[in-house]
Amino acid sequence: MQVPLSVGSLLEHAEKFFPKKEIISQTHDILHRLNYKEIGQRTRRLMSAMDELGIRNGDRVGTLAWNHHRHLEIYFAAPGMGSVLHTINIRLSPEDIIYIINHAEDKILFIDEDILPLIEHIHTHLTTVEAFVVMTDKAELPETTIQPLYSYEELLSAGDPAYEFAKDIDENQPAGMCYTSATTGKPKGVVYTHRAIVLHSFALGLADTAAISESDVSMPVVPQFHVNAWGTPFACTWFGSTQVMPGPRFTPKRLAEFIEKFNVTITAGVPTIWLGLLRELDQGNYDTSSLRAVLCGGSAAPLGLIKAFEEKYNIPFYHAYGATETTPLATISRLKSYQQDLSKEERFQERSRQGILVPGLQMKVVGEKGEVEWNGKEMGELLLKGPWIADEYYRDTRSNDAFIDGWFHTGDVVTVDEEGTIKIVDRTKDLIKSGGEWISSVEIENAIMAHDAVFEACVVAIPDDKWQERPIACVVLHEGIDTTITKETILEFLSPQFPKWWLPDDILFFEDIPKSSVGKFLKRELREQVKARYSPQE
Ligand code: ADP
Repeated sequence: MQVPLSVGSLLEHAEKFFPKKEIISQTHDILHRLNYKEIGQRTRRLMSAMDELGIRNGDRVGTLAWNHHRHLEIYFAAPGMGSVLHTINIRLSPEDIIYIINHAEDKILFIDEDILPLIEHIHTHLTTVEAFVVMTDKAELPETTIQPLYSYEELLSAGDPAYEFAKDIDENQPAGMCYTSATTGKPKGVVYTHRAIVLHSFALGLADTAAISESDVSMPVVPQFHVNAWGTPFACTWFGSTQVMPGPRFTPKRLAEFIEKFNVTITAGVPTIWLGLLRELDQGNYDTSSLRAVLCGGSAAPLGLIKAFEEKYNIPFYHAYGATETTPLATISRLKSYQQDLSKEERFQERSRQGILVPGLQMKVVGEKGEVEWNGKEMGELLLKGPWIADEYYRDTRSNDAFIDGWFHTGDVVTVDEEGTIKIVDRTKDLIKSGGEWISSVEIENAIMAHDAVFEACVVAIPDDKWQERPIACVVLHEGIDTTITKETILEFLSPQFPKWWLPDDILFFEDIPKSSVGKFLKRELREQVKARYSPQE
């Protein structure tokens, strides 16, 4: 049968079959516990309220919010009535946020109370927004000049709990959109269709990917504004998993406490989050035995991090890869049955790579002379195709550089081994070109981070008259580490692992490394800091 796939139907399924299963949600003031029946009714009330406010098919519905149940309700209400969920990264600069809201032409904005000051500051620059809704537990709305401003809970109280999900959804119509966090240039918009989100949710449920199921207690740490918390709220709702939303400005302590208290089984986030949690686990005494999977992606997971989770805390750790343009799950690292026989070290090595392609997608790795050999050595750019891969940037001429002949060009340089396992060598723009050869900054970073004294390491290129570019390593040591760790210690540690010309020309020690709005190393800014160290006050 030709049945259109729709995002609203995922919540309808949960309402019917998992009405008792819970969403546990931390907001600024309260720890809420609601079940899918209540979430369903609240979502219907929200759709009717948005209808009253004039939101129509295709309109963009912006959110500026942390991970909590109200944000989850908008995840279903917006696409459920045919409009488009647009999650906005609250950590971007005000200029980027203005650009994104105007470019997407958001008609309504849902805003967490602590984000309101930011909107107060920029709202006169917003050209398309007709209504602002504040999400708060408080009865009184905060004092503000933003107009017209509505209270989320008041809108819901007046809404209709029996309002119907739209039945005339075309599965190829937009359900959501996200902007990439823009390491260079203006953010780029990516649109997700209903079909893409539903098929991606299926993929998250497969036994050999994330295997999300009813019995899971899922805590998305990755923000709901970062590629829809990697799509986990859609899949978890559909499958009836319990969801634990860690709320605004959470700390590693809160994460560790929630894991213990709510018996979290699966959680997802970027490596920085897991480094922080590891520190907390080292200091406290938490029971994390419920965890069956920590999903890690967004940037390369250092081998030392994977080992620490698995060997010290017995927590299974899965390395995955994707991008805003890929909804995002594209590859995940799991050992094949016959790879279980490898030595322990080989198994860790294998699992620190980004893994194999998720079923449903196609890939191609193209080097200077065409498609590369699957020999684990030849490097090329990863190209992807599939039903949850974007085919353009939203109203953006930069589409022409990334979407060519039906393939998305990821800008990631990889190798592929005989098993089809990919390893991200670098982003095209971060590869270091030295004497006509490429050096992978990621590989050196990971090697340095395997040193016991090192908390984080980031490697950048600096211009060099003779070699064109040379690597410099910026290292953050663990707190309280003895000060006998020097440049030489790190270089001695690295030298047996790399050819001589790969070794960084210098090791600089830093208090911290600048990070992007989604917790990735900001290499552009770090390069400036490195330059300043070499030529102060220039
Ligand atoms: P941005 O491009 O602004 O960082 P995205 O979240 O879309 O925003 O980032 C996608 C990129 O993140 C990928 O193209 C890749 O470079 C990097 N990435 C994602 N997952 C991994 C991973 N597991 N290992 C290495 N790099 C990764």
